[in-house]
Amino acid sequence: MGITELQCPQCGADVRMGLPKESVVKSVTAADRPDTSGPRQKARQLTCHNDHEFFVLFEW
Ligand SMILES: [Zn+2]
Repeated sequence: MGITELQCPQCGADVRMGLPKESVVKSVTAADRPDTSGPRQKARQLTCHNDHEFFVLFEW
Protein backbone atom coordinates (compact mmCIF):
# COMPACT_ATOMS: atom_id res chain seq x y z
CA MET A 1 0.00 0.00 0.00
CA GLY A 2 1.45 3.34 -1.03
CA ILE A 3 0.33 6.76 0.04
CA THR A 4 -0.58 9.13 -2.75
CA GLU A 5 -1.21 12.82 -2.30
CA LEU A 6 -4.08 14.21 -4.32
CA GLN A 7 -5.53 17.67 -4.65
CA CYS A 8 -9.17 18.39 -4.02
CA PRO A 9 -10.63 19.56 -7.37
CA GLN A 10 -12.66 22.24 -5.62
CA CYS A 11 -10.22 23.91 -3.26
CA GLY A 12 -6.84 22.35 -4.03
CA ALA A 13 -6.33 20.96 -0.54
CA ASP A 14 -3.98 18.04 -0.25
CA VAL A 15 -5.69 14.75 0.51
CA ARG A 16 -3.74 11.63 1.30
CA MET A 17 -4.99 8.34 0.05
CA GLY A 18 -3.70 4.83 0.41
CA LEU A 19 -3.59 3.02 -2.92
CA PRO A 20 -2.50 -0.48 -3.83
CA LYS A 21 1.11 -0.54 -4.87
CA GLU A 22 1.75 0.21 -8.53
CA SER A 23 -1.71 1.60 -9.05
CA VAL A 24 -2.07 4.66 -11.25
CA VAL A 25 -4.49 7.50 -10.67
CA LYS A 26 -6.46 8.05 -13.87
CA SER A 27 -8.66 10.97 -12.90
CA VAL A 28 -9.93 13.08 -10.03
CA THR A 29 -13.41 14.51 -10.37
CA ALA A 30 -15.94 16.31 -8.23
CA ALA A 31 -18.78 15.17 -10.48
CA ASP A 32 -20.60 11.87 -10.38
CA ARG A 33 -18.87 8.60 -9.67
CA PRO A 34 -16.79 7.89 -12.77
CA ASP A 35 -17.47 4.86 -14.89
CA THR A 36 -14.84 2.21 -14.60
CA SER A 37 -13.67 0.68 -17.82
CA GLY A 38 -12.38 -2.76 -17.11
CA PRO A 39 -11.92 -4.95 -14.05
CA ARG A 40 -8.67 -3.27 -13.01
CA GLN A 41 -10.18 0.16 -12.52
CA LYS A 42 -11.78 1.29 -9.32
CA ALA A 43 -13.42 4.48 -8.14
CA ARG A 44 -13.13 5.65 -4.57
CA GLN A 45 -14.84 8.54 -2.84
CA LEU A 46 -12.75 10.92 -0.78
CA THR A 47 -13.47 13.99 1.28
CA CYS A 48 -11.03 16.85 1.80
CA HIS A 49 -10.73 18.69 5.09
CA ASN A 50 -13.15 21.32 3.76
CA ASP A 51 -15.82 18.64 3.34
CA HIS A 52 -15.72 18.54 -0.43
CA GLU A 53 -16.52 15.11 -1.75
CA PHE A 54 -14.81 13.91 -4.88
CA PHE A 55 -13.97 10.73 -6.69
CA VAL A 56 -10.67 9.22 -7.65
CA LEU A 57 -10.48 6.75 -10.48
CA PHE A 58 -7.47 4.50 -10.38
CA GLU A 59 -6.12 1.47 -12.13
CA TRP A 60 -4.18 -1.27 -10.41
ZN1 LIG B 1 -11.80 20.76 -0.98
